[in-house]
Amino acid sequence: MHYVVIGNGVAGTTAGETLRRLDPQSAITMLGDENFPPYCRPMISMVLEGTVSEKALPIRSADFYDTLRIHPVLGTRVSQLDPESKNLATADGQSFSYDKLLIASGSDPRAIDAENQNLDNIFYMRNYAQVRQMINALPSFKNALVLGGGLVGFKAAYGLLRRGLQVTMLISSGYPLSMQVDETAGQMILEVLKSRGLLVRVGSQVIGFEGGDRVRGAFLADGGHIPCELVVIGKGVFPAHGFVPRDKIKVDAGILVNGCMETSAADVYAAGDVAEFIDIARKRPWVNAIWPEAVAQGEVAGTNMAGRRFVYKGSLSRNVIRIFDTDVMTAGLVHPPSDDMEIQVLTETDRRRRLYRKLVFRKDVLAGFAMVNRIEQGGILTALIRSGLPVEKDKSRLLAPDFNFARLMPGSRACPIH
Ligand SMILES: Cc1cc2nc3c(=O)[nH]c(=O)nc-3n(C[C@H](O)[C@H](O)[C@H](O)COP(=O)(O)OP(=O)(O)OC[C@H]3O[C@@H](n4cnc5c(N)ncnc54)[C@H](O)[C@@H]3O)c2cc1C
Repeated sequence: MHYVVIGNGVAGTTAGETLRRLDPQSAITMLGDENFPPYCRPMISMVLEGTVSEKALPIRSADFYDTLRIHPVLGTRVSQLDPESKNLATADGQSFSYDKLLIASGSDPRAIDAENQNLDNIFYMRNYAQVRQMINALPSFKNALVLGGGLVGFKAAYGLLRRGLQVTMLISSGYPLSMQVDETAGQMILEVLKSRGLLVRVGSQVIGFEGGDRVRGAFLADGGHIPCELVVIGKGVFPAHGFVPRDKIKVDAGILVNGCMETSAADVYAAGDVAEFIDIARKRPWVNAIWPEAVAQGEVAGTNMAGRRFVYKGSLSRNVIRIFDTDVMTAGLVHPPSDDMEIQVLTETDRRRRLYRKLVFRKDVLAGFAMVNRIEQGGILTALIRSGLPVEKDKSRLLAPDFNFARLMPGSRACPIH
């Protein structure tokens, strides 16, 4: 048996380890276009901030591949896949055949449509190499422009602010993290960032960049111009499945999988940011591009590839973010459709103490929440979403930062934390 894993991120790494644990004999090849051993991708933004050393990034030791007898083929990108002949090819001309394949190629940054975007010092922030390049050039920068207020754009802006740069964030939605939080929480986050010197421009977009070799400024669609020596493009990500033949493997936003992480093609599995499966809160297929889901899916994929059945129940979006002295936590459905009659939304806001809590229920079941500060009980709320247990009365008690779960659901014997 020859297993091939595309991607040595956390989904591919977890799958590789699971395969080796359950199948000590078979050959495993892992292909990845980055030249590093597995590392903690979310922490690259902390390296940019300067709060975490690059030495803390690796999540496995340098002898990871040797110890598990995994054959690594790094620094090369898979460009073609034929699930009928069970062959794949890389951009540098190598070819591989497999018995079972896992696609764990993660996400690519979403590109923008702007002139001159190949100038020096215009970056994406998806991998360690990009952050390393930014840090090398940092001493010569004073003004940074961050395009996009999503998770990556936000983290880039925060990191550069902490490094002492003057940062302008250009966002179309009016507030940062608009996919993760609602407007009230988003405006609270914005106030914190502005109080630390962030400049924000709303409702316009970059149409081109100015500069000789290096970027010196950005031209906006509304006629404006922003001087900058560093640009980070953080306009979101999309699943990295450009090499997947859509007539042979079903693809929606991500590669569609079932609970065993099997795609529509025989012996081809997908896991992590590239995969799409049922979202527990939304109750429909969704790509939840977050670290803990990539770990869980990698393990499920590896187990099933090794011939043991392990069914994944579905993914749940969630994020915990610290912005200077402000904590934000979200999970599940935070932006419910306004015309859904089964949805009930409860909120509590205390602007003076910078506290906010929003709970979204579908019928009586918690489907999502957003919290600014006093987030201690976010774990219980997350577990409550996962459990699907109804909260039939006194739902508003969950708005209190110190609610007592046992009193709220006295009939429930099971602890919802898992
Ligand atoms: C700056 C930043 C901050 C983040 N913060 C958080 C956070 O706070 N919390 C959280 O839960 N998640 C966070 N994430 C998301 C998290 O990192 C991802 O969900 C997770 O890394 C996904 O793991 P993965 O293995 O599916 O994909 P990846 O980690 O993307 O790994 C996939 C690997 O495959 C490689 N690859 C892609 N295409 C090919 C190809 N064709 N051929 C060969 N190799 C290929 C990629 O280069 C990559 O090395 C953050 C991400 C970034 C970039």
